[in-house]
Amino acid sequence: MVLAQLGGSISRALQQMSNATIIDEKVLNECLNEITRALLQADVQFKLVRDMTTNIKKIVNLDDLAAGHNKRRIIQQAVFNELCKILDPGKPSFTPKKGKPSVVMFVGLQGSGKTTTCTKYAYYHQKKGWKPALVCADTFRAGAFDQLKQNATKAKIPFYGSYTESDPVKIAVDGVETFKKENCDLIIVDTSGRHKQEAALFEEMRQVAEATKPDLVIFVMDSSIGQAAFDQAQAFKQSVAVGAVIVTKMDGHAKGGGALSAVAATKSPVIFIGTGEHMDEFEVFDVKPFVSRLLGMGDWSGFMDKIQEVVPMDQQPELLQKLSEGHFTLRIMYEQFQNILKMGPIGQVFSMLPGFSAELMPKGREKESQSKIKRYMTMMDSMTNEELDSSNPKLMTDSRIMRIARGSGRQVQEVMEMMEEYKRLAKIWSKMKGLKIPKKGQMSAL
Ligand code: GDP
Repeated sequence: MVLAQLGGSISRALQQMSNATIIDEKVLNECLNEITRALLQADVQFKLVRDMTTNIKKIVNLDDLAAGHNKRRIIQQAVFNELCKILDPGKPSFTPKKGKPSVVMFVGLQGSGKTTTCTKYAYYHQKKGWKPALVCADTFRAGAFDQLKQNATKAKIPFYGSYTESDPVKIAVDGVETFKKENCDLIIVDTSGRHKQEAALFEEMRQVAEATKPDLVIFVMDSSIGQAAFDQAQAFKQSVAVGAVIVTKMDGHAKGGGALSAVAATKSPVIFIGTGEHMDEFEVFDVKPFVSRLLGMGDWSGFMDKIQEVVPMDQQPELLQKLSEGHFTLRIMYEQFQNILKMGPIGQVFSMLPGFSAELMPKGREKESQSKIKRYMTMMDSMTNEELDSSNPKLMTDSRIMRIARGSGRQVQEVMEMMEEYKRLAKIWSKMKGLKIPKKGQMSAL
């Protein structure tokens, strides 16, 4: 994801600035210019970037900086707040309630991922106990109904559509009525898209909305559309009351900055992002953790949530304590591997850990990574307590390594490879020394 590069560029700009001996207006301007360039390269709309830097200049008080306060922190906090402000329109979107029928209408251009996203949205809610249903009111694209039918069948979600009826408004109304009678509490209406914005599309959307009176209209946007995002989102908003945005294909090479622009154009929050073609490649979107990750600060709140889900209550304080001590032993690595295996989508958890790269667990190769971890754990099972509790890799002499290999039935080379991995992780872990673990939702300590 190119957004990661954006995070990297911003962090570098801040780093360069904090290396300067004196922070004056010139140094601050240089830093903001770098940030501006990075945001524009990521396709964030020019006006948004300009407003953001103007705001930062207003907030950051150069006298405070000169007085020796932590400059990088003050400016990073300002950048963090401004990015959050762009992404958070200040009002939450409508959330459907279980047991009460809600109609949610999806709009977007053809190819944006609208039909796929309708099913992902239905599937997500079905897993959480809703009773969703899908209505295909796309009579424009040949094959749209078949696609929805196929997706819905796979996910065991009831669907409605017609091969013969050509009036999308009639299909939408009939579908909504049918599912209301069947006590479905989340009725999702997929509408037609077009290759480009045109009057006929907007008129049809308006009519479907008028007839079905949706509780929420979701605008689906392909993250790779770049600078066009702002205008496209605005055009949809002017025709129907868009209340939320879903950004798709965030797994590709999209620059992603369009998401920020779409929020600004529709004044509606991004609620989910699509991260792949599969039904479950769909993530809830939260502003603060997203910006934290973007700025390379690690997603502490996501990580803490995961910890709370899988690490037994009584072990949580101990783990956090170990993290903040920056003292990493093979035993800690073993315990973390145990937790990671329990935590599920491994890459996701690891990308939340501040400073952790996906090196150990590249995305898409989770199975391989899991067997690697299991292999490492077998080797560690052959270690003595002294070896597990030491953080000195020199203790691992050749004869010890040979003994571990023999004991676990693995090759010497594999034990050495594991020790390299340990050293790599220990180095990253040591950077966390002294970190204050922030409360949920706050930005990471710097
Ligand atoms: P629609 O014309 O807007 O209904 O778009 P579709 O739902 O048919 O999607 C168009 C293409 O984008 C399909 O090949 C989907 O599999 C693909 N797609 C949708 N969402 C995502 C996503 O989040 N990531 C990736 N990689 N592909 C996606």
